[in-house]
Amino acid sequence: MPTRMASAQSPDRLQLLIGGKWRESESQDLHPAFNPAEGRIMATVPFSTKDEVSHAVSAADGAFASWSSMPITDRIQFLFRMKEVLENHAQELATLNTENHGKTLEESRGDVRRTIENVESAISIAYTLAKGTSLDDISPGIDELMVREPLGVFAIVCPFNFPIMIPFWFLPYALVLGDTVVVKPSEITPVPMQKVAELLHEEVKLPPGVLNLVHGGSEVVETLIGLPATKGVTFVGSTAVARRVYRLAGENGKRAIVNGGAKNNIVIMPDADLSRSIPSIVSSFFGNTGQRCLAGANLVSVRGDKELLNKFSKASSSLRIGNGMSPTTDMGPMVTKAAEERVRSYVQKGIDEGGKLVVDGRHASVNEYPEGFYLGTTIFDDVSPSMSIARDEVFGPLASVLHVETLEDALELVNHGTNYGNMASIFTSSGRAAREFRRLANAGNIGINIGVAAPSAFYPFGGMRDSFFGVLHPQVDTVDFFTDKKITLSRW
Ligand code: NAD
Repeated sequence: MPTRMASAQSPDRLQLLIGGKWRESESQDLHPAFNPAEGRIMATVPFSTKDEVSHAVSAADGAFASWSSMPITDRIQFLFRMKEVLENHAQELATLNTENHGKTLEESRGDVRRTIENVESAISIAYTLAKGTSLDDISPGIDELMVREPLGVFAIVCPFNFPIMIPFWFLPYALVLGDTVVVKPSEITPVPMQKVAELLHEEVKLPPGVLNLVHGGSEVVETLIGLPATKGVTFVGSTAVARRVYRLAGENGKRAIVNGGAKNNIVIMPDADLSRSIPSIVSSFFGNTGQRCLAGANLVSVRGDKELLNKFSKASSSLRIGNGMSPTTDMGPMVTKAAEERVRSYVQKGIDEGGKLVVDGRHASVNEYPEGFYLGTTIFDDVSPSMSIARDEVFGPLASVLHVETLEDALELVNHGTNYGNMASIFTSSGRAAREFRRLANAGNIGINIGVAAPSAFYPFGGMRDSFFGVLHPQVDTVDFFTDKKITLSRW
């Protein structure tokens, strides 16, 4: 959590978008958002007051009647423009994403691409999945009709690690289906979404109140969920907060899609083709500096030799750490100093609990940026399932290698080592092993010879057990979430 700021004088104080107008927040509760590569403050985040949050929800509620009654053929035109505007500004958005988050520019370009794919996905489903159904003569002379109706205002609460992409797991679907939204970006990485809101307001020209933007932390989220006009909340973040948000939504009678944290196991079978697997595994563990809910965390070796460890260590140690803006950087910094320190504390725990430290990333530094939040890749071997580094979500560039004897042992770890169930991957050349893994692994996203099993926009984003609370998932599944089904029976 960033520390509070003493003064309101910092540059680039973020603004609120409420009812189609940019506003200076009246809040004195100011927090810094960093450029983690340089370790400098890049913006000041005023945590919105209760009144401001309430105005944002009222503005969204006020816009709902005309937005929802606009023909979908007209609403969809805004999404076509959205795609075009995002394409036109893709490089600028990727740059901001890297500046505020720290990931490499190439990773940020990937984020923007998936953001746009969600707009395309929302466009492609709008005329088909949004349709209702009807059946004549369900009884003599009686016809039955089901139509989908939008519900009203939805709050979109976001984590720090995909500042633009994750809001777009929800935003384009809600809008094309006729709902209005209040987006609350992560207080750590709010800058890219602020820019997107500017573009949607100024260039896409969404009608006032259809998209609103507030900033803040837990209190803002509680206010958003508690306000009567809010019909539902989408949340992506850590499991501890996810549980709380899901409970709050339930207590307030609100719909909720709630994605939590992860501790993903990557299983390597003896028959895996290592030369093809290693780049994929390295990218899984260390892409996005390990700050990805689909990142590998435990490397589960069923091989009984050290070839995997040696190759994995060698490839990981050769990653170039630096500012994500530089084309020579393979891995950027951690998002905050606190996040960096948290990973350091896990390295110490790994040592204290008996793990064998084979690659130590604690001494990484980047000469040009002595204040940056840098860490190198860290690998522990001979980790046992009971160690903290095998069980807790570390969310950084730390890999734990565990050795097991059979696929069944590996599945036992996947299914019972922790209660997370976001992603599990297997690397093998055996169709039988792959099939068994796919069927028996209790995780919502399964990779087979894939290190980051990220579902395309036109599939639901999976998640099970402590990694997901709810019924409907992000991306295309949200058609059911953002609409209600109304049934009409008629006899004439
Ligand atoms: P976080 O839980 O700290 O914060 C997420 C959001 O919740 C932020 O907007 C924050 O302001 C808000 N928040 C924080 N405390 C709150 C509280 N007490 N009550 C209500 N709201 C609160 O998560 P983060 O550190 O921003 O993101 C990283 C986490 O997100 C990791 O655990 C990662 O696995 C998870 N994640 C999951 C997925 C997925 O699809 N399952 C995707 C991306 C990230």
